[in-house]
Amino acid sequence: MSARQLAGERLIIASHNDGKIREITALLAPFGTSVVSATELGLPEPEETGATFVENARLKAGAAARTGNLPALADDSGFAVKALGGAPGIYSARWAGLERDFRQAMATVKQMMRGAEDRSARFVCALAVGWPDGESLAVEGSVSGTVIWPPRGNNGFGYDPIFVPEGHDLTFGEMDPTTKCTISHRTDAFNKLVHACFGEH
Ligand code: IMP
Repeated sequence: MSARQLAGERLIIASHNDGKIREITALLAPFGTSVVSATELGLPEPEETGATFVENARLKAGAAARTGNLPALADDSGFAVKALGGAPGIYSARWAGLERDFRQAMATVKQMMRGAEDRSARFVCALAVGWPDGESLAVEGSVSGTVIWPPRGNNGFGYDPIFVPEGHDLTFGEMDPTTKCTISHRTDAFNKLVHACFGEH
């Protein structure tokens, strides 16, 4: 893994997902990195053809870095339910359809889990940094917890309302964003990235 530095650089957040952009911007705030999102730059969304979270994150970071000619940070993440063999996994966004209907995606999870005793699930997040010269690095983080029904809370995004992280009573959808940020899969991955890209912090 390269230890190229990012502190002080301008960085593209290679995402069109407002929830992710918001959380990554907050995580980067202490590092003095100026950020611009793929949405703001009008960059196209590459097809996610990878077989893993890490492959998809590298693909998105590389594409944005090449097109935007700046280092780019991409997140590929998802919800992995044990009783469903890790589904929806890398297909988490696609389960919500073109309409991005996460009420429907959560209902699909509930329906497919019917009868399953094991309610355990994880959120997984791969973060990749790509540079315009083609170099990239990637890390992966996760948070374990339980699937609940019915959905609770309007904070966060995606599958947050049906996930209670281990050691907590509130769903990610009920928690205030700062609390989610202290324990999330994105933060776990981000902490690993910090050591590689931001030197001592
Ligand atoms: P992708 O990484 O763009 O393929 O999309 C990941 C999908 O996983 C998102 O659209 C959400 O449905 C889900 N997801 C990822 N991170 C979170 C999270 O922190 N909370 C809730 N859902 C998430």
